[in-house]
Amino acid sequence: MLHHAPYRLRNVIPLVLVGCLAFLLVPLTMTAVASAQESPESATLDDYPLDSVSREVKPTGRVKCPKVELVRYRGDVIRYHKPVKVFVGFKDRLKKFEKVVEEVAIEVYGRAPRRIRHIGTYNCRRIGGYPTFISEHGLGNGIDIAGFDFGRLPRGEELPEGVSKRLKRSFKVRMLKHWDGKGRNAIHSRFLKTLARRLIARDDIFRVLLGPSYPGHKDHFHFDCSPWRIVEVFEADER
Ligand SMILES: [Zn+2]
Repeated sequence: MLHHAPYRLRNVIPLVLVGCLAFLLVPLTMTAVASAQESPESATLDDYPLDSVSREVKPTGRVKCPKVELVRYRGDVIRYHKPVKVFVGFKDRLKKFEKVVEEVAIEVYGRAPRRIRHIGTYNCRRIGGYPTFISEHGLGNGIDIAGFDFGRLPRGEELPEGVSKRLKRSFKVRMLKHWDGKGRNAIHSRFLKTLARRLIARDDIFRVLLGPSYPGHKDHFHFDCSPWRIVEVFEADER
């Protein structure tokens, strides 16, 4: 549940790290960061209502998060195991995310999960180690995903070719246990990695995608819609 910190940009484009973090808030630099990313190829950031909201806060004392319109959202395409509290504009991104989850799950398991397990959305706080920046969670603009709960294969539906019959029953997929799953868990690893690749390839859903290759993210994906793009999910040999 640690969160991305701006200093990680140094892995993306070393040249921009020239001493101060203020550049992070300059939209033109954001676009430069976006286009320096390997994927998606055409990355230019689309407009997003929170782009102009400052993420800077005083380094000490009670943190005050900017007022944004928050909504309770249960999930339209796939339900979350409990409703999420997010910025109203982030809800549309989540809906697209659920669509991608559904699509990949049907390819791999023959049905969509019944529930998405999340471990945090709105939470007004600073980014750990960066006391002058608020976390995207402080804007309701990020989500942490720990896994997916699948129900039984519906009657009359077929499992995809080659999938073990035991997966007709209900089962859970978890980042911590299955990201690098081998043997009978290899299918879950394939599901999680295909999902991550599909999300990284989209420039209209999330801008920051963090996962197992990013410190503190072995057990969840962190997805948000910051004004900059950072992708740190796969180890270098898997990118
Ligand atoms: Zn997070």
